[in-house]
Amino acid sequence: MAEQDWDNLSEQQWEELCDRCGKCCLVSLQDIDSGEIYHTNILCRYYDIENKLCTVYDKRCQLVPNCLKLDKNNVDKLPFMPKTCAYRALFDKNFKPQPLKSLQGRVVSETDIDETDLESYIVDWDDI
Ligand code: SF4
Ligand code: SF4
Repeated sequence: MAEQDWDNLSEQQWEELCDRCGKCCLVSLQDIDSGEIYHTNILCRYYDIENKLCTVYDKRCQLVPNCLKLDKNNVDKLPFMPKTCAYRALFDKNFKPQPLKSLQGRVVSETDIDETDLESYIVDWDDI
């Protein structure tokens, strides 16, 4: 999609671009020194994996301080966004669509993790 096209999207059209994969709802870790981002298979407690939706969507930014409202001004500045994210196609010239793999069976809820060992949840998947 050309930049001028997505500038003209209505809010509803913008929202509909999301395929609700939930991959941006996985916890990411960032190395303080290098700035490098590491993805984990830890899933936000508010993501309903069966129905592929955020259960607190309207108040997500209040309940989860790290949950950012994605918009046309910040979508290209969020390094943790999954490389298969539908929004990446809008700005990433190297974007190559890949088959969407479900998170089902691959993740653990943040309510069930060992918080003292976050690094053990780091994953190197080709779809995030
Ligand atoms: S990664 Fe992108 S497409 Fe998937 S839920 Fe998040 S915003 Fe939507
Ligand atoms: S609050 Fe909702 S949108 Fe935000 S990370 Fe959690 S599940 Fe995803």
